[in-house]
Amino acid sequence: MNVIMKFGGTSVADAEAMNRVISIVRHQIAANPNARLPVVVVSAMSKVTDRLIETGRLAGIGDADGAARTMNDLLERHLGVARSLVGGDALAALTARLTEDFSAETAAVRKHAAKGEVTPRAHDALVAMGELASSRMVAAAFAAQGVPAVWVDARRVLVTDAEHTAAGPDMDATCVRARAELGARVAAGQVPITAGFIGATSSGVTTTLGRGGSDYSAAIFGACLDVDEIQIWTDVDGMLTADPRVVAEARLVPQLSFAEASELAYFGAKVLHPSTILPAVAKNIPVRILNSRRPEVAGTIITAEGRTGGPALTALACKRGVTVVDITSTRMLMAHGFLRRLFEVFERFKTSVDVVTTSEVSVSVTVDNPRRLDDVVSNLRNFAEVSREPDMAIICAVGENLRADPALFARAVTALANIPLRLVSQAASRRNITFVLRNADVPEAMNRLHAALF
Ligand code: ASP
Ligand code: MG
Repeated sequence: MNVIMKFGGTSVADAEAMNRVISIVRHQIAANPNARLPVVVVSAMSKVTDRLIETGRLAGIGDADGAARTMNDLLERHLGVARSLVGGDALAALTARLTEDFSAETAAVRKHAAKGEVTPRAHDALVAMGELASSRMVAAAFAAQGVPAVWVDARRVLVTDAEHTAAGPDMDATCVRARAELGARVAAGQVPITAGFIGATSSGVTTTLGRGGSDYSAAIFGACLDVDEIQIWTDVDGMLTADPRVVAEARLVPQLSFAEASELAYFGAKVLHPSTILPAVAKNIPVRILNSRRPEVAGTIITAEGRTGGPALTALACKRGVTVVDITSTRMLMAHGFLRRLFEVFERFKTSVDVVTTSEVSVSVTVDNPRRLDDVVSNLRNFAEVSREPDMAIICAVGENLRADPALFARAVTALANIPLRLVSQAASRRNITFVLRNADVPEAMNRLHAALF
């Protein structure tokens, strides 16, 4: 099986974690003797990106010394890890490299501080330091342990537009480079180690894909190289059927569809952002979430079609602290244009709504950010009666099976007997059922649903 293996920040957090990465990759190679060698993509060490962003903020307010100090702390952290990772000439080379890169960027940061401005372009050059450093360190560690690894500069592979801090890939150009820079190395018997999250414009200016972008890099490279699986190694076992703090019986979801993963992510399941793996799913390449601390666990696999068999539903997600707003048309009943007028008010105050239900004379919506709700309500009152109810929650039960088996809806509603439901909706995708109820009823409702449907 040909794979891309992406290791997130917690999986490369220190020397011990990096050594775990090496043993996981070795194991992957040993278990698949006939496969091509894997391509390894790494994030910055955990918290490093946050610190680099903080450095940029300090430079932006003119605090040159503060910014330089953070850079120095970061360099020290990396050097400390390097020392417990490699020795001898390899350590001397790695130390020199990291020191040189950080010194150059510290000088740049001091210049930004003098101007009191960090442009998006400068910001990208700064935050790219995290992935550049971690990938160099992991590559050195592989080599020191006798794995034929080679560091590949991701900026020579991932070609992007110039939308700094949220750059988008040029897939055609990137795929040409991925075959030349990554695929060719693999063919030559080397394991390419490269950075996630970062790329460069066609003229070579460093860019970044946006927070959490390493998953995106892995999916892009995987799509280009047509691998059989993209592995996202993180610090949890995979997606769970429910939040284990609410439902003690929550279990691992072995397999789910991309669409299910998207619905769950929207309602707060935070393992990965499904949109970042779209390039892989579009090419029908499965993405597997794995735990680098417990590599023996099979994890969760996300595929285009999802699973066959297993429990009735795939997972439950929930979002607490939402407000329900009921809007009743006073004059015109549901005269045409009412909904447009109503949603225009939400739009004007940049307040997004999650769940919407309508009846002949009234509309109920949920809002999770109440910041401008007072304005929304007073404007709605120009043409409707409005009431609102805070401290509500949304529970979303997700499963492709809901499309095929209409009885599931009844089972879910029955499981919630006696719990007051404010709104119930089934989306057009028929992939989820959404319940809006009181925050206080969430634990009871989640546990009942879980017991009845998993
Ligand atoms: N290091 C980047 C971040 O923290 C990218 C990533 O980890 O995926 O957002
Ligand atoms: Mg991450």
